[in-house]
Amino acid sequence: TIGMLAIDKNGDIAGACTTSGMAYKMAGRVGDSPIIGAGLYVDNEVGGATATGVGEEVIRTVGSFLIVELMRQGKSPQEACEEGVKRIMAKNKDRNDFQIGFLAINKQGETGGYCVHPGFTYREFSKAGHMNNEVTSFY
Ligand code: ASP
Repeated sequence: TIGMLAIDKNGDIAGACTTSGMAYKMAGRVGDSPIIGAGLYVDNEVGGATATGVGEEVIRTVGSFLIVELMRQGKSPQEACEEGVKRIMAKNKDRNDFQIGFLAINKQGETGGYCVHPGFTYREFSKAGHMNNEVTSFY
């Protein structure tokens, strides 16, 4: 998945998200990326978020919408991404084999990013972070 969030000089926010989906997916599977609120969500009054990883889990938590709502409630983009990832992992305590990540930006142009890798390694994205073969960037 490639997720991108952008803010212009007027503070207007935009986002985009594209994916090839999961390896060995069933024919007809729809992941999170094309679903607004799951793989991508932007509210120009608050901020934007985008997701990568196991789409089914992102859909179940309406992940990108959740991140934006957490920012609306006062969390920083970084705090919101961490909360979103941890919420998904709390529902999957018996699994250590998947990857979930979120990026976020708020109206002030502050950014955040957080992901979990197989084996439960949590880490923050850098400003232009690489996650396995995935690249996620802020502009
Ligand atoms: N989120 C994508 C999906 O579930 C997969 C990915 O991020 O690689 O379709």
